[in-house]
Amino acid sequence: GPEIFGARKNSMGLDLTYDPHLAQIEVARGTYADTDFTGAPLIAGTPKGGPVVMVKNPSTHAPIGQITWASAEDVETALASAKAWDASAAERAKVLNRAADLYEENLGTFFALLSREAGKIWLDCMGELREAVDFLRYYASRVEDHARAPVGVFTCISPWNFPLAIFSGQIAGALAVGNGVLAKPAEQTGLVAYEAVKLLHQAGVPREVLQLLPGDGATVGAALTSDARIGGVAFTGSTETAQIIRRAMAANMAPSAPLIAETGGLNAMIVDSTALPEQAVRDIVASSFQSAGQRCSALRCLYVQEDVADAMTDMLVGAMIELKQDDPWHLHTDLGPVIDNEAYQGIKTYIDAARTEGRIAHELTAPEGGFFIAPTLIRVNGIEDMKREIFGPVLHIATFKASELDQVIDAINATGYGLTFGLHTRIDDRVQHVCDRMHVGNAYVNRNQIGAIVGSQPFGGEGLSGTGPKAGGPMYMDRFCQAALADRH
Ligand code: GLU
Repeated sequence: GPEIFGARKNSMGLDLTYDPHLAQIEVARGTYADTDFTGAPLIAGTPKGGPVVMVKNPSTHAPIGQITWASAEDVETALASAKAWDASAAERAKVLNRAADLYEENLGTFFALLSREAGKIWLDCMGELREAVDFLRYYASRVEDHARAPVGVFTCISPWNFPLAIFSGQIAGALAVGNGVLAKPAEQTGLVAYEAVKLLHQAGVPREVLQLLPGDGATVGAALTSDARIGGVAFTGSTETAQIIRRAMAANMAPSAPLIAETGGLNAMIVDSTALPEQAVRDIVASSFQSAGQRCSALRCLYVQEDVADAMTDMLVGAMIELKQDDPWHLHTDLGPVIDNEAYQGIKTYIDAARTEGRIAHELTAPEGGFFIAPTLIRVNGIEDMKREIFGPVLHIATFKASELDQVIDAINATGYGLTFGLHTRIDDRVQHVCDRMHVGNAYVNRNQIGAIVGSQPFGGEGLSGTGPKAGGPMYMDRFCQAALADRH
């Protein structure tokens, strides 16, 4: 069954009433407002370089810099020179901890890039930097518990929605046990990745042990997932891409090569008539609209018990109206843009279809000038009406009768996904009943369902949502080690 996380205050986050936090943000905003960033492959050798790509701010479309992608030749140079990390466990831990310190010292650069390249609000910038640092320190703290042989060289392919935290978490997990890493960041967020790898090198990770190959899936991703010199792949992204990677690995790599995949979700929340409405609404809003809904943990389908549905919907719409959508560079912004034009067009088309079908419960007006999708509430009969994950600020709402609770649970499980789940109820027995039956990785009770905390809330799903082991948990590093050796002793 899922790990169940009860109501608790998220200890991480930016406190704008705390002067040192505010001061750091003000410095970042002042210093980096006009900075042009550059990035390039970081390989053991001189990169030849492929296409040079202009990076644009998703809020304004203004250029913020440029990045040179890796050429096919650069990928080959990296593959040929890649090495496992031949350093003691203690030394690896020391280097990862040093990298964590450097990340913290470079808060300004990261905040600026997370905001301008990835469209993140300051609250999310803070949470993301915190999570990246936590991954580095947490995996460093566990090196002695994983004193087994590394697999060799890992390919790490990370998503744009956590371009620092997930990017660094995969790399840190692989490096901590002594693997080498070839990292391909998402096409949309190569600059953040470039800054991070520079700091990891500065901290002492050797150049052949960690190499950065920015680029697209066709050139870089395909090569790095279909080469016999690669020992395993860590991937976070869509379920479809994970299936493509698995086929490529099966055809080209050792049968034992692990794929650690964290993929999509169709996450639900159930709110019954005993829930505290103000609290439920606050948690619904955070779960579905924070980060503009671009988390795989985000709430997609809300089930509200019929008796309280009208009152709850009114309150929810009231809270949605209060949300301030703007360029995240402004401190007042609650949600920013979606990542790029493809995401923007896809979500817009989806909402347009729902409007035509008369299923919009409420929609707001998005600001002009960027890839802004306004928070939108869409009526559905149930989660079975949703054919796929809509990765943006779109929440679906359904109602249920008290007698239908088990049918709702069955419908949620029947999607095949199993990442996060939320429950608002004040009936203790119901918590146990529902969570025992729900096939998900992370279940959250009487709180929001995003923002799992490294070390205390390992994050990952089952079924179509991923392979495990959970990121930020004690088992994560196991799959980066050679399994067979455990039996030989
Ligand atoms: N770990 C993040 C959370 O708990 C989600 C990661 C993702 O979106 O891939 O919100």
